[in-house]
Amino acid sequence: MRLSIASYGLLLICVCLLIHLELAWISGHSAGESAELPAAEQAREYYELYENVWKDLVYFPIPESSEDEKAEVSFENSWMFERTYGGSYGHEGTDLMPSVDRSGYYPVLSMTDGVVENIGWLEKGGWRIGIRSVHDVYFYYAHLSSYAEDFQKGDVISAGQLLGYMGDTGYGKEEGTSGQFPVHLHVGIYVRTEEIPELAVNPYWFLRYLEQHKLKYSFS
Ligand SMILES: [Zn+2]
Repeated sequence: MRLSIASYGLLLICVCLLIHLELAWISGHSAGESAELPAAEQAREYYELYENVWKDLVYFPIPESSEDEKAEVSFENSWMFERTYGGSYGHEGTDLMPSVDRSGYYPVLSMTDGVVENIGWLEKGGWRIGIRSVHDVYFYYAHLSSYAEDFQKGDVISAGQLLGYMGDTGYGKEEGTSGQFPVHLHVGIYVRTEEIPELAVNPYWFLRYLEQHKLKYSFS
């Protein structure tokens, strides 16, 4: 009789242990699934954001010169290369380097349709203009020597429209600081997610694609 009670007790403990293990497995398993779901959603969101960049791109930002064949630009994939002005950080963009090292020489065109969201001096970016495109992507053009017009926030911009001229402004608190680095155009592309209002994406491959879509312009 005593043995029998002990047996029942042991059986009960075993059953409880099994149920406990089963519940632990179920909760672990479903926790794993619910952790995977946002990742898949996020991947889809990023995919759609990149799609938006492709949808908006129309022209390479530097046109071909119809007069000066040697007026070209070159660029490399310098994404997240170290930059050290005002601290160490990664390069969030692509630099278009000119074959003609002259500030104010190359026209800078809008790659997209959009609206002027930011204009004016930035300590790092110098004279810069930021265009918000139709599909909510932010296109950032920095270090301009000057603007083509007296742009205001909210001005409507067409793809291929002249924004200003390539220069070497920036890296200074004082407006108009120039000559701190070689003449070039810095291109930045930013998308926004629910969590990150300005998520930088690498412009390099977009610009490689746009190289086949250069406008011809008269400058020499
Ligand atoms: Zn740059």
